[in-house]
Amino acid sequence: MPEQNLSQEQLKALQEKISQMSPEELKEFQKKQCIFCQIIAGKIQARKVYEDERAVAILDINPANPGHILLLTKEHYSIMPQVPDNEISRIFMAAKSLSNSMLRSIDAQGTNIIVANGVAAGQRAQHFMVHIIPRKEKDGINFAIPQNAMETNEIEAVGNKLIAALGGAAEKKEEKQELPVPQISRPPQGEEFPTPNQSKPRKETSKKSRDGLNLDDISRILGVK
Ligand SMILES: [Zn+2]
Repeated sequence: MPEQNLSQEQLKALQEKISQMSPEELKEFQKKQCIFCQIIAGKIQARKVYEDERAVAILDINPANPGHILLLTKEHYSIMPQVPDNEISRIFMAAKSLSNSMLRSIDAQGTNIIVANGVAAGQRAQHFMVHIIPRKEKDGINFAIPQNAMETNEIEAVGNKLIAALGGAAEKKEEKQELPVPQISRPPQGEEFPTPNQSKPRKETSKKSRDGLNLDDISRILGVK
């Protein structure tokens, strides 16, 4: 990180400068600092395995397993809430294809598809990405998700908060029906990457859930600006 080489005074001056930037200037500044934007711009070399008009997938140079892929939006977004709906749907369609390619080509027995959304969730990169990690049994990777005991009423209470934030149970059901129907994967016959402009237009999700929360507030919660 470039900040590590700065003196206290320089750091203060930089923080001052950042605080006075317009959102557009800030985005440009973030892009210049972002190694993944440099990769996307072709200024830093990386092994590309997939590209469409909005996304690029590269091999991680420090993979959790051989074939570990980083799927990146071409636009610089720090966190998932900033990624527009049409891009996020494309990204996850690409993630599915990339995952399928691992199952077919490198003897992966499974894949983990991971987004670290926010500092508390382990996000380190400043650029939104989806990790796609090929897995084999006993490969030494252990995502130990704790299974804690919880009272039913506590589970209910958490569920109610989430449903309310989504705009209510009824709306949620409606939204579910609008999601694009996933394609059934075919036997290995060439690539199955999604081609651009094929996704069905998707209706806006609940205004309440979209506008109820300010993106800046979400960014602050996630610890990424
Ligand atoms: Zn970036």
